[in-house]
Amino acid sequence: MANPDIFSTNIVGPIHSRRLGISLGVNLLPRDGKVCSFDCLYCECGWNADHRGGHLPDADEVMHELETKLQTMHAAGEALDVITFAGNGEPTLHPDFPRVIERTLQLRDQYYPEVKVSVLSNATQIGKEAVRAALLRVDNNILKIDGAFDETVHLIDQPADSHYSVRQVIEWMKTFQGQLIVQTMFVRGEHNGQRVDNTTPQEVAAWCDLMREVRPHQIMVYSLDRPTPEPLLTKVSKEEMTQLVAPLLAEGFNIQIV
Ligand code: SF4
Repeated sequence: MANPDIFSTNIVGPIHSRRLGISLGVNLLPRDGKVCSFDCLYCECGWNADHRGGHLPDADEVMHELETKLQTMHAAGEALDVITFAGNGEPTLHPDFPRVIERTLQLRDQYYPEVKVSVLSNATQIGKEAVRAALLRVDNNILKIDGAFDETVHLIDQPADSHYSVRQVIEWMKTFQGQLIVQTMFVRGEHNGQRVDNTTPQEVAAWCDLMREVRPHQIMVYSLDRPTPEPLLTKVSKEEMTQLVAPLLAEGFNIQIV
């Protein structure tokens, strides 16, 4: 049975996003499957194993669809805040991601020059120069890091690469010289009998130290909004997240708490 949370189109919306405003989504992943280098316990698309198969879409076709949509919206005088790359997995895994970003920026300049282009990425591919260069061209490159310890990230995000290393990702993030938004999901619960919690004092103190190293121009923290593939997860309240990030707020970090 098709999962209702899998996007069945490559252009999605526009929808109102609590994090981004009026957003037109670009799903550079299959319309009938999920392709991701993570398998997060909280993924709104569901488990990777439940959505195997599906082909990555042709980049030119997606860009044609995007142009048609922008043309139509522009002609109708519809408002738009942001074009967002998200969808059924990790957008930077598409081999034409850099070319797609270039074309998207052209279309944005043509139809909605004031609109931002955002990419939601799990940061696993930012060690590739072409991906890094493309991300540096967009207005908001929003890169995920869900914990300061390898063990925590392997538990919450379940990277396909068993050698995934937080230290490596942080070193890559530092090369962005602040031109990035770091996004962190705070979550608690249980998975396969193991305690899940990236909100303990030890976790948060180490995560704060990583933010001081990377110095992103913005940090976005959020918690659960919808049902999750792992049902034993619980939401962290906005009030509690505000307390968790208080040390960084006091140091002047720009933090969006959703
Ligand atoms: S990185 Fe994003 S798309 Fe991939 S599994 Fe995690 S939440 Fe889902």
